[in-house]
Amino acid sequence: MRLTRRLLLPVLLSVATTATFPFTAVLGAQGTIRPDVDPRIAQLVAAVSQARLQATATTLAGFGTRATLSDTVSTTRGIGAARRWIHGEFTRMSPKLQVSYDRHALAQQGRITRDVELVNVVAVLPGKSARRVYITGHYDTVNSRRPAGADATATAAGAAPSQPLVRPTINNDADAPGANDDGSGTALTMELARVFAESGITFDATLVFVTWAGEEQGLIGSMAHAMALNAAKTVVEANFNNDIVGSSLGGNGIIDGESVKIYSLGPEDSMHRSLARYIQRVAGTYVPSHTIRLMAREDRFGRGSDHSSFAAFDFPAVAFREANENYTRQHSPDDKIEGMDFRYLAQNARVNAAAAASVALAPPAPRVTTAGGTATIGRGPSGYDASLQWAASPGAVAYRIYSRDAWTNDWQKSQVVGNVTQLLLPNVSIDDYVFGVAAIGPDGHESLISAYVSPVRKMTDVLLRK
Ligand SMILES: [Zn+2]
Repeated sequence: MRLTRRLLLPVLLSVATTATFPFTAVLGAQGTIRPDVDPRIAQLVAAVSQARLQATATTLAGFGTRATLSDTVSTTRGIGAARRWIHGEFTRMSPKLQVSYDRHALAQQGRITRDVELVNVVAVLPGKSARRVYITGHYDTVNSRRPAGADATATAAGAAPSQPLVRPTINNDADAPGANDDGSGTALTMELARVFAESGITFDATLVFVTWAGEEQGLIGSMAHAMALNAAKTVVEANFNNDIVGSSLGGNGIIDGESVKIYSLGPEDSMHRSLARYIQRVAGTYVPSHTIRLMAREDRFGRGSDHSSFAAFDFPAVAFREANENYTRQHSPDDKIEGMDFRYLAQNARVNAAAAASVALAPPAPRVTTAGGTATIGRGPSGYDASLQWAASPGAVAYRIYSRDAWTNDWQKSQVVGNVTQLLLPNVSIDDYVFGVAAIGPDGHESLISAYVSPVRKMTDVLLRK
């Protein structure tokens, strides 16, 4: 996000005198007023094309099925044709994109009912640094409806017909157009690859656009990828995962084309929640007509998506979901283009674009723990102050300190401090407030907020006399 502040304030300040978000003006390095909106990001957001999103989703649905275990030889039907088309589209968009297949030779396991080569399609837009910001959706689909005449006992116990389970009896060649699940997230990912590559902006972070396979078999493609990232010690700043984001008409008849849900794994001060709050703030600046509904849970009941593969390795990750889903259409031959609202999908793409661009232009989030994981916060020399320390973020010119009452779940006060790595707040109890720190880059872009987290107490066994 673009920040609004005088950049060089005294290092010492009192929480009681800090201002509240949002602000309205900023002083840049030259002392001139800098608006909240970075015109480069505004231009990038404006470049999102509803028509292209529609064309892309229509082509994806036209492959008939994109099931992970479907045909890979046909040029017109099945997951092989789909991934070759996605790869070709990424390649045609811009020479700046490094396009590749991310291949994983899978053994039969779980819902993968035979050995198969699983292939994610990846487009990388290199930044000044190697740390990565991911925008993702899954291009595989599933038709989990049992064939006519199949044993109905599986649903007799009261499970909804739309219950999204992939059964072993599944027909991988049956129609599964997946226009919305997840043609919507795939089209969004591809559209953002185009607008980011064409933006002319040199981002600090490297942007990675991935369309996953194997999501419907248990997030297999994203998990294989995240495992490799973790093994390579790759730094991942954020994962914007989009799964079912293209319809404004719920199965219950309620229409909402003006809001989107963002799911994130807790606890409250996890970096996943930090990312979710960040997106909400940035959207308020660049896409104010769209409402962001933060969901304090990893996902819907009994459902999942690829953000969880990233969260499993502590890579900050969220999932975007449309406001009102139509469960009946999902995982069926009825997930067609006719059920889509591309004006709505375009709005969700703009929110992704604005927030991902902001993260990618900002310095990394400051580290607020020791190497051993202990929060670098204390009570200061007096024993009654708040003493905050953090590691310097490369490229930062200032930091913003956030605070809130310890019972609330979103930041209430903030204050910009200079290019320092510690702060003493006299007579402020670290037990009464939660504190966080964000890094600010030379252009005013701010990182995610790293919070000082009180660790869960480790209990000891009580020894009883025999
Ligand atoms: Zn999905």
